Amino acid sequence: MSNLDAVLMNIRTVVAGVVGALLFLSVPTTVEAQETAVPALGDGLVSEAPVFPVVQPPGAYVRALEAGTRSADGRPGPNYWTQRVDYSIDVELDPASAHIAGTETITIHNNSPVAMPTVALRLYQNVFAEGVERNRTVQLTGGMEVSRIAANGTELSEATRQTFNRDGGFLMLGTLVAIRPSEPLAAGDQLELEVDWSFVVSGGGGFRNGHLDNEVFNIAQWYPQVVVHDDVFGLDFEPYLGDGEFYVDYGDFEVNVTVPEQWVVVGTGTLINPGEVLRPEQSALLASAPALDTLVHIVTAADIADGTVTRAAGDGLHTWRFEADNVRDFAWAASSKYAWDATGAETGSERGRALIQGVYDPEVTTWAQSAPMGKKAIEFFSDYLYPYPYPSATVAYGPPQVGGMEYPMITFINRRDNPRSLNGVTTHELSHFWVPMIVGTKENAYAWMDEGFTTFNTALAMDDYYAADEERRPGRAGSMAGYLRAAQAEVEVPIMWHTDFAPNGFGRGVAAYSKPGMLMHTLRHMMGEDAFDAAYRDYIETWAYKHPMPWDFFAMMEEAAGTDLDWFWQSWYYETVTLDQAVEAVSDVEGGVEVTVSNNRGGVMPVELHLELESGATIVDVWPAAVWAGTREVTQFVPADGQVRNVSIDPDSWYPDIDRTNNDWERPGA
Ligand SMILES: [Zn+2]
Repeated sequence: MSNLDAVLMNIRTVVAGVVGALLFLSVPTTVEAQETAVPALGDGLVSEAPVFPVVQPPGAYVRALEAGTRSADGRPGPNYWTQRVDYSIDVELDPASAHIAGTETITIHNNSPVAMPTVALRLYQNVFAEGVERNRTVQLTGGMEVSRIAANGTELSEATRQTFNRDGGFLMLGTLVAIRPSEPLAAGDQLELEVDWSFVVSGGGGFRNGHLDNEVFNIAQWYPQVVVHDDVFGLDFEPYLGDGEFYVDYGDFEVNVTVPEQWVVVGTGTLINPGEVLRPEQSALLASAPALDTLVHIVTAADIADGTVTRAAGDGLHTWRFEADNVRDFAWAASSKYAWDATGAETGSERGRALIQGVYDPEVTTWAQSAPMGKKAIEFFSDYLYPYPYPSATVAYGPPQVGGMEYPMITFINRRDNPRSLNGVTTHELSHFWVPMIVGTKENAYAWMDEGFTTFNTALAMDDYYAADEERRPGRAGSMAGYLRAAQAEVEVPIMWHTDFAPNGFGRGVAAYSKPGMLMHTLRHMMGEDAFDAAYRDYIETWAYKHPMPWDFFAMMEEAAGTDLDWFWQSWYYETVTLDQAVEAVSDVEGGVEVTVSNNRGGVMPVELHLELESGATIVDVWPAAVWAGTREVTQFVPADGQVRNVSIDPDSWYPDIDRTNNDWERPGA
């Protein structure tokens, strides 16, 4: 993010026989750049040469740098703060009517240096209400009924747009409700809100949550939740429209879920009253599971048939009590059809091993692997990213409309009969336990900071799991293919656009998932695996339980790379320009060859040449992205000890070249 005059380092790695890792080696060489002719439209007026614009963060971010809540190296500044929000929630589910009724006490800790006259809550379920703005097609449920809001013990009345600023109260605005208590919430002070609400859980026409035949419920984005107030953008008063998922502050939860007996409930955090709801043998199995690498079966198909899923309850209802500390959300699942498996995972965290659970319809046989798949993902990411700090991780079966959806310590996944598909989606969703659950990104705006990172994380995990399968393409190939399809169809949306405002669904998906996933592999290739992995881990650890913005990530990666990367962010994150490098000419000269490469489109990337000699030796010669400053065609000398048989640009497809038909040169007559 510094200016472009930072020197991009040249790379020249000569490898005989095998291709080695390509590093940013500090070997600057002279670039022989060939200028293209300037069109005759006035002296110095027009240049066709590509320029490298600098990344310009928004003013809000620049002001955060000045205020010292952020710093130029991409780390939190000395004055960094986040709000804390604690919840105590009682909720009851009536499965037959799919009706949920809840009451909550919220404590907002204003750690910001400013007083807040207004706070706000998200009413996500109103995305299913008539007349509410949304960017997805839904089946209407009526949305959320809010029957009471009190602030510091004083009941508030509903305001209109005309009376809100003058008289306070609460103002319903679709998926948001703005609240003005009688006194502003002072800096350093706390505000206690009490809210009563109810809604009907969406059936087949919902998303992210819902139920299957009133027997399996996945409940998320279900309680009035405090809107983030951060140091960069202030109050995140943007509606929930459907595409963007969430942006949430951290806090502690106590959640009591009441359901009929013979129903299983799993959720974020730890079940603290297993003895009240489970039979003693089940409680003992559950307590034993974290230490085990083998599965225990807490509820089996036989239990479901025999009516021994839970203890008998006197009044026919059980209340399942959960606690979760330092999380950004709470979600839960409940079912009368859940088999329940548990095991343990090694995390390397101070807390020790984690409880891993799979809950599923026992008739869906692939799901018998759900807990082992969860265990594998938790252990892989604990090792690669950051030790999993939470006590549990649950993979919960759900209705088709949840697809795969992540919340802290719990994911909802629909039926998957192909084991590799279930493993892939489980791994993807559990990667989200790190991004954005541990690293609290502003996902509703910058979806790529969790979906793109997760696509990348999942590719690495799957490459590890299936290393023995030689037929399998590397995980990164899928991201590259997805990106290239969108680029070739010219339906791309810039990665940095707010995800809710993408004009087409395919472009939105590619901008959130495959393109930023692909670019992580490209960056890792350019930086070298060790340097990239160390920087990526540093980012995860540095921003755990905080709210990084894109420019923080950019700055941290630049610091680790030791070079300015604005050309990379600008071409690939802010724009939809594409890359087409072509070998134009190869000529023999004393001691090697001169190679001419053209840059036929707007995207900028280094040039990675692979030369094969008649002797069979291979030379890898990398030109830094800086060679493209001010030119579209570059000729460089490449030393070669013997006759060159062929020259290829990037034969391993690390860079998103849109036309690979012009990437190769072969000696005529060879
Ligand atoms: Zn995802």
